[in-house]
Parts: sequence; structure tokens; C-alpha cells
Amino acid sequence: MEYVAILVVLFVAFYLFVHQRYLKQDELKDSDYKKKGPLLNSKESAFYNALISAVGQQGVILSKVAMSKVLTPKTTDKKSWFIANNRIAKSYFDFVVCDPRSLEVRVVIELDDGTPLNKGKVERQKLLMHACKSSGIPLIGATVKHSYQVGKLRRLLAAHIDLIEADKEVRFCKRCGSPMTIKTAAHGDHKGRRFFTCSRQPHCTYTENYNVVFE
Ligand SMILES: [Zn+2]
Repeated sequence: MEYVAILVVLFVAFYLFVHQRYLKQDELKDSDYKKKGPLLNSKESAFYNALISAVGQQGVILSKVAMSKVLTPKTTDKKSWFIANNRIAKSYFDFVVCDPRSLEVRVVIELDDGTPLNKGKVERQKLLMHACKSSGIPLIGATVKHSYQVGKLRRLLAAHIDLIEADKEVRFCKRCGSPMTIKTAAHGDHKGRRFFTCSRQPHCTYTENYNVVFE
């Protein structure tokens, strides 16, 4: 108990010192910012679009949600609480599906970007699994290729969200993540043949053969 009190005092002293020394003098003058770009990269946004189609009106999807906003340690012992809270302090959930009214988290979805397993990735997976298991929040692991499998996502989610039912597949542009629409070629060698085209045409010109099999 004493130990914690000393730590807290030290921390407060340090904070005041830093605050006075570096932040107070010229406030924000040297702290200009620039945008980092979209919150989601192209793979993530393709997956996000597939998730929206899978969930429909039955849930709200949020991305990169801080774990500490969703979870809090069970323990009432202060020291253990700080340790447990620290463990999740810098981590976030890739995607969460929430109740559309209260935004209560119903399901956590971890998107595997296909990069090889390394120490950081293993640690993250261990933490995720433990956090979700101990808090009773369902965790679904999805791979990048699921971004083209709305039906499969729907089936995975249907196990946890009552109103979601599986239905037919919807295809998404592999370049920009927008939904694809089906068109018929009006002229050229393939006249009369159906093909998928990006719904953002003419801004995105990605097309795909109609008969490509879903992976
Ligand atoms: Zn596109």
C-alpha cells in the first residue's frame, strides 16, 4: 500500500515537473500536426465494407477501438488493477460490432492481414484471446480474404447476433473496397458477356469476370 502511495506521489511530481518545464512555457506553438491519412488501409476498408454488408441494420461497426474503453480489470486490488489495465492500455480491437442503439460491444473481430507470425503478433493474439474470454465477449478471427465473403461473415456473426441471417454473396472491388455491380459488355470481343465493375466508376476502373469463383 505504502509502495503504491510512493509511486503515485512520484508520478504526480514527475507529471508536474514535465508540465511546467515543457508544456507550460510556450503551450502548443511547436506542436503542429498533419493528417496520417485514412484510418483504414485498402485491405481493412475492403473488409470493413464487407462487414457493413454482413451486419446491415443489426449492428454498428467501429474500428480501432481502444481495449481500455471496452474492458476494465475485474480485480479490486489497486496494484493488480493497474497492472491489468496497463496490459491493455495501448491495444485496440481491429473491429467491434455494437448494438445499434447503445453501442454495447457484441462481437470483437480480429483481422489477420496475412503477415507471418512474429513475437509481437503472437503476444497480441494471446492478449486478445485472454481479454475476450475472461470478459465473455465473443472473438471472431477473420482473414483478409473474408473481405470477399459476405455470406461467410454473416454466418460467423449470426452465431452471436440474433437478427443476422446468411444470404447470397456480394462482391467488393479489390482495388478500392467499394461494392461491385454486374454489367453486360455492350461491344468488343466480349459483347453480351456479363462482368463485375466497380460501383465507383469512372473513378475506379477495376473489373472482374463474372464467372470467377469466390474463394
Ligand atoms: Zn473500385
